Amino acid sequence: MSKITIAIDGYSSCGKSTLAKALANHLNYVYVDSGAMYRAITLHLINHGILKDGHFIKEKVIEELNDIDIRFEYNREQKKSETYLNGVNVEKDIRTLAISKQVSAISAIAEVRTKLVKIQQMMGAAGGVVMDGRDIGTVVFPNAEVKLFMVASNDIRAQRRFLELHDKGENLTLEEVKKSIARRDHLDMNREISPLQKADDAIEIDNSELTEVEQFQLALKIIDEKARSLQTAN
Ligand code: C5P
Repeated sequence: MSKITIAIDGYSSCGKSTLAKALANHLNYVYVDSGAMYRAITLHLINHGILKDGHFIKEKVIEELNDIDIRFEYNREQKKSETYLNGVNVEKDIRTLAISKQVSAISAIAEVRTKLVKIQQMMGAAGGVVMDGRDIGTVVFPNAEVKLFMVASNDIRAQRRFLELHDKGENLTLEEVKKSIARRDHLDMNREISPLQKADDAIEIDNSELTEVEQFQLALKIIDEKARSLQTAN
């Protein structure tokens, strides 16, 4: 099977990255976590005092973009790709609640998106990539051969995120987690540029009642069928 592009979009805490990583491993494809790139920019802005408690001056953010370099490096021991911000591994630092709270305001800035979409398109130019995010099937790779759109019930998503945060020592109540997810979804769906949307040709997967293995098998079946139909068409 020739190498295709797989775009996975969906709401926050829908298991996009778990599925994307498993598919990339299985297919021997490159995995790109586009959300990590928006998170890294947010972290940089906080570290440089440009973003403080959700407040920022847009012009300052845009100016700072020239000084931000984001890369991924594969960690052989951990068997996963990690995010580097200006040469420093920030994989852990970008997953905190403080970043989750502020990232959607930063990702709504046109110039931020233009910069990152360009890099993402370069990363996937040769095909053989699984990329997850909010606008991958609609903007970054509108011609992706396979587009998946992940959904899960609000309760299930909040429960998953709640456990994840508790593992990291962030002690929020389930209700607070629910609110924070709803807020981020609202911002991501209602921003002016590239809002979170299901592409017309995306296949929706509701994983509320699926295990990780079941979700993986379902996605793989969709990919296999698509690859077969492409072969027949050629
Ligand atoms: O996927 P993750 O939850 O890490 O994404 C963090 C945030 O980055 C999202 O809530 C959204 O604001 C932004 N994002 C985006 N476009 C993408 C990926 C993420 O706007 N393709």
